[in-house]
Amino acid sequence: MLYRPLIRPYRNKYLAYAVRRLVHRCCPQFYFKNFMRKQVNPLGRPAYALTFDFDFEKDIEAFPRLLDLLNAHDIKAGMAVIGKFVEKYPDIHKRAVDEGHEIINHTYTHPDNPHWAPDRFFNKLSYAEQKDEIARAHEVIHDVLSVECVGFRTPHYGNLHTESVYPILSELGYKYSSSTAACAYKGYGAPAMHSHGVMEIPTGCSLNFPFAIFDSWNMLRKQNPFLGDDDLFVKEFAQTIDFIVQNNLFLTHYFDPYDIVKNRKIERVLEQLGKLETVLYRDMV
Ligand SMILES: [Zn+2]
Repeated sequence: MLYRPLIRPYRNKYLAYAVRRLVHRCCPQFYFKNFMRKQVNPLGRPAYALTFDFDFEKDIEAFPRLLDLLNAHDIKAGMAVIGKFVEKYPDIHKRAVDEGHEIINHTYTHPDNPHWAPDRFFNKLSYAEQKDEIARAHEVIHDVLSVECVGFRTPHYGNLHTESVYPILSELGYKYSSSTAACAYKGYGAPAMHSHGVMEIPTGCSLNFPFAIFDSWNMLRKQNPFLGDDDLFVKEFAQTIDFIVQNNLFLTHYFDPYDIVKNRKIERVLEQLGKLETVLYRDMV
């Protein structure tokens, strides 16, 4: 019963918020462990899907280093890319495809990206405009990278993610979206059928922060970040991975390339991933 108001908070927003605050303060690990143990792991073995969102020019600058390190660790990852960057920097995107990484459609301009779409917000776009953002990115990915994309991620997740993406994705023949947070979604961290024949693969949280997406923004960069320290960040990641391995579960996170490459955090993250199998979204759906 505890999980129901927290997974579907829109039913009783204020109660869910109060309970979340209380749980966050008094027993985050207890909640995270019990929430995740309800998962039915479709793979039946400990597995992790590593993904990256390329939202800014500085993420593109980190791209070659990231690919070198993934190669060195023999790990394939999902790359959520935006059409405008694929057009502007085709070679580095082609390299990612050639090296076996998965391309995820992250819209054409990534509203409200400061480079091209500073005043547009994905959730404020009309259905036709949303469809155009997704379809244009699909075309660019197809034309420039020769990839038939099957997965999508809404820019900024959360409040900017809308139900309208599912019929759009269905029309385009997409198999999955990865645009929700595990803590707010029914799959207990595992992929679940959403609607219109499209799966949702929710992005995961971590041991001590069961209600926040575990990414570098939430943990390190926003105002009053949850951790604010690189060593604590890696430690939290390592402990979460240990729990996933011990309990035979599936987990996925996304990281911002610039942030994770900085101060060699990615090397330490990849080392932890040696403890379990890494998988791609496209192989799960
Ligand atoms: Zn993004």
